[in-house]
Order: sequence, then structure tokens, then C-alpha cells
Amino acid sequence: MCENTNLHNNQYGYVMECKKCDHIQMRFGNIALALSHNKFSELAQAVYNYYCDKQHCKCRNQKCIYLQSPAQNMMLVLSVNELEQVNDLLQSALLSLDLNEIFLKPTI
Ligand SMILES: [Zn+2]
Repeated sequence: MCENTNLHNNQYGYVMECKKCDHIQMRFGNIALALSHNKFSELAQAVYNYYCDKQHCKCRNQKCIYLQSPAQNMMLVLSVNELEQVNDLLQSALLSLDLNEIFLKPTI
């Protein structure tokens, strides 16, 4: 059984970490992904780059962003508003991972 720790959630989804499987689980809308830490970092970086590029687009609600998911042949189709929420989820979750790394590390 997984032991999930919540890293971050917003109204669109959540990001959790299971220490037992060493996986990160992300849900956004009706999409759920289970990722290794490396893949999660890659996705977070890609989303961040995309968001920096698209954040001032005028069409906020049009689903015009095609984001390659870590699964081959699967893309996420998002509006700028949704991309902003995904970016919030991923960046905040990354921050939580870093903080956990610092504060929950067993002292030797
Ligand atoms: Zn697990």
C-alpha cells in the first residue's frame, strides 16, 4: 500500500509523494500521472518554461497549449489559465519536496 504525503493541492488537482514506491503522483482535472522524481522535475521545468512563454497570451481560456506528457504519444491540452494552475501545482510541490529534503532528513 502506498503512503502518500500531500505536497501541494489547488482547486484543480494535487501532487502527492509516496516514499515507499519513490513515486510522485499528480492529478490535474481528470488526468492522473505517476512519475519518478526525475520525470517529475523534468515536467515541472517544461511547464515552467511554457508558462513563462505563454503567460501574457490574451486568449486565456482557449485550449491552445499542447504539452507533451511523460507518457509517449500523450499530450495534455490546456488553456493559459489551466497552464497557470498546473504550474502552481508543480512549482509548489517542488518547493515542498526541497523543504522536506532539508527538514525531514534524518540527522546522523
Ligand atoms: Zn506507493
